[in-house]
Amino acid sequence: MTPTPRQEKREPEIVIIGAGIAGITMAYTLQGAGYSRFRVLEKGSDVGGVWYWNRYPGLTCDVPSQLYQFGFAPKADWSSIWAPGPEIQRYHRDVVDKFGLDEHIQLNTTVVSADFDDASALWTVVTDTGETILADFVICATGVLHNPAYPNIPGLAEFKGKVVHTARWDESLDVDGARIAVIGTGSTGVQVVSALQQPARSLTHFVRSPQWVLWAPMHLRQPKLVSRILERSPGLHAWIYAMSLKASAVLPDVILNDTWRRRAVQKYARLCLRRQVQDRQLRESLTPDYEPLCKRQVVSGTYYRALRSANTELVTTDIARVTEEGIQTVDGREFPLDIIVLATGFRAHDYMRPMRITGREGRQLDEIWADGPRAYRMTAIPGLPNLFTVLGPNSPTGSISLQYSAEVTSRYILSWLDKFRVGEISTTEVTEEATEEFNREVNSAAKTTVWNSGCNSWYFTDSGNIDLWPFTRSKLTEMLTQPNESHFRVTRRQEEREAAGGINLASQRKG
Ligand code: NAP
Repeated sequence: MTPTPRQEKREPEIVIIGAGIAGITMAYTLQGAGYSRFRVLEKGSDVGGVWYWNRYPGLTCDVPSQLYQFGFAPKADWSSIWAPGPEIQRYHRDVVDKFGLDEHIQLNTTVVSADFDDASALWTVVTDTGETILADFVICATGVLHNPAYPNIPGLAEFKGKVVHTARWDESLDVDGARIAVIGTGSTGVQVVSALQQPARSLTHFVRSPQWVLWAPMHLRQPKLVSRILERSPGLHAWIYAMSLKASAVLPDVILNDTWRRRAVQKYARLCLRRQVQDRQLRESLTPDYEPLCKRQVVSGTYYRALRSANTELVTTDIARVTEEGIQTVDGREFPLDIIVLATGFRAHDYMRPMRITGREGRQLDEIWADGPRAYRMTAIPGLPNLFTVLGPNSPTGSISLQYSAEVTSRYILSWLDKFRVGEISTTEVTEEATEEFNREVNSAAKTTVWNSGCNSWYFTDSGNIDLWPFTRSKLTEMLTQPNESHFRVTRRQEEREAAGGINLASQRKG
């Protein structure tokens, strides 16, 4: 039987940008579905995303490792209940090796631009190595926390010592006996203060807005016996993972609903501070002026202890400037220093930036996102046909397993790719209306969350929206189970052929 143009079958050429949690998941999903014509472009010299870029002392994941792992790649033998950063990074490398994904991954490659051509319905992806790749689909798996935020403090460039951002740690830095300042008190600042307090001669923690810190035994080892049992019983391991996912539903619950469960966690946060910091003045300085859970909750078993140490000082007075010798606060105090550590977080809403993305009819991503990042169900953006994001805008960074979300989103994207593969569609682009409706729903639901209870945080975009998932995990699953074609503008191959005058769609690689 001769296929008609509409039934023509062709495997799409796919470019995935980023080889972190999202990119690895997408690549694994494609491979599992029998796709082979995909490439993952990664700017780092290894896979792992945040776990590759972040190497600061004390880096740990404050989500238990038996939950913080891919559903398709359970690891039985985590060293700790909350594994350290290097072990998590190794895990990502091991997963890539185990599933043979390496042959699709191109490291040390930064995507500079991606342009959609209306006539051919192809994306042209250009890299910093001068390569040009034609693709039917582009999948941005560029992550949320990958552009470090550098503070605009006067004089920072004049400092004669060393300035280092936690997300770009200099492993040659000698911290032993150094006079160190840490600026910032998010999850990162708290971890790095705990780790640097001992080797430092003096450690000054500059805190603009104190955080609530939940105590947990972060150094607890995973017993070897547990590792052995899980290794020998994959069924049990899978069951424990499923139960952990189920149990983690408590997080969206405390975020979304003002119930006794939320109040119990908040009470615990206050108790942690009261119990661990007896000094009244220090406790007052460490008491936030907003509710626990409003910002991304910080968890630590060592931070308050580090702050109580003789070589450590908490400074909540604003920084006036950095001098050649150290930091000066607005009250005129000088802090002579050797090292300034910037634990000042990320430009979390920059997503695919700084790459230049041009969609249908020359529309630029910057134009589409003039009022801040927005997508349909975390994954599709109006104006950008055949482009999807994994862990894009509104991803549940504060409440639901990222790996789970990436897996569900990847399967959702796969449904669209399958439609292309069987010749059912040529392009798909989410409508403005469906995106607007989704964003209206998000903004309305976000209003009543604890994130909106009166603090500033990286969750807020410049336009005042909360860039998170203000729904439950089951809603996430439900929204991404099956594409709803009525929310998309779809072109069929026949229509496209007519429009393009029979253009040859075969992808090319130049370079
Ligand atoms: P963050 O939560 O955004 O914290 C940045 C800190 O820097 C805040 O305390 C902020 O103060 C301060 N800051 C920024 N600019 C400043 C300036 N000009 N002067 C003084 N202080 C300034 O960043 P993060 O700690 O890197 O954490 C980001 C996210 O990464 C976390 O929320 C979490 O999702 C993730 N993370 C996870 C783990 C984990 O264990 N799973 C570990 C680390 C990070 P203000 O609050 O006053 O703005």
